[in-house]
Amino acid sequence: MQTEIEKLKNRLLSAGSLVILTGAGVSAESGVPTFRGAGGLWQGHNPQELATPEAFEADPFLVWEWYDWRRSIISRIQPNPAHYAIAELEKRFLEFTLITQNVDGLHAQAGSRKLIELHGSIWRVQCVECGNSSENRVVPIKILPRCSCGGLLRPGVVWFGEPLPEEALFRAFEASSNAAVMLVVGTSGVVQPAASLVLRASGAGAFVAEINPEETPLSSAVDLRLAGPAGKLMPTLL
Ligand SMILES: [Zn+2]
Repeated sequence: MQTEIEKLKNRLLSAGSLVILTGAGVSAESGVPTFRGAGGLWQGHNPQELATPEAFEADPFLVWEWYDWRRSIISRIQPNPAHYAIAELEKRFLEFTLITQNVDGLHAQAGSRKLIELHGSIWRVQCVECGNSSENRVVPIKILPRCSCGGLLRPGVVWFGEPLPEEALFRAFEASSNAAVMLVVGTSGVVQPAASLVLRASGAGAFVAEINPEETPLSSAVDLRLAGPAGKLMPTLL
């Protein structure tokens, strides 16, 4: 393992650009739950049926109640050493992009700025009428939030059946194409576009390293693998 870490550190020292892709594993190390609840239900509802535009249209208060519950839990959770190490790495590269699948806002809280939140953020709201998006950290929401245009505000996250935000996706692929090194941290690569981003980077000549306690479908496609928790391994790269 030590030699693998050294090998990766040497790569990072000579790299002109770094892209880091993070997934649920990094959040889980901070204690962010999967929000499926016991038996997979929240107050008798299947989360997969609440995180849809149809559910919001049918009962916006119910959907907001669920997000309120999630937001109140996440508001008490702190970033872990992996989040902080990633924020520190950002300062050491002129060309740096962090792409995350996580919606909990912990990367931003740890200081990451060059950040693409592919699935949005639980701390943003978006108007269903005019599309206007803004930050909102009110917990609990209590009354349905409204935009200045009068439209209802929904959680600023990507729901089941919705496409990823085009601009974020474009920037993620562009950064991956230009990466000298890509670190794939705490993501199984099963949820697209993670696997496609890794293949794009690798195909464009990037050195790709995976940091994950488990083997993943991506493991065979990467140049180097560090097996272990991100919170322990990422700080060793600094
Ligand atoms: Zn509006």
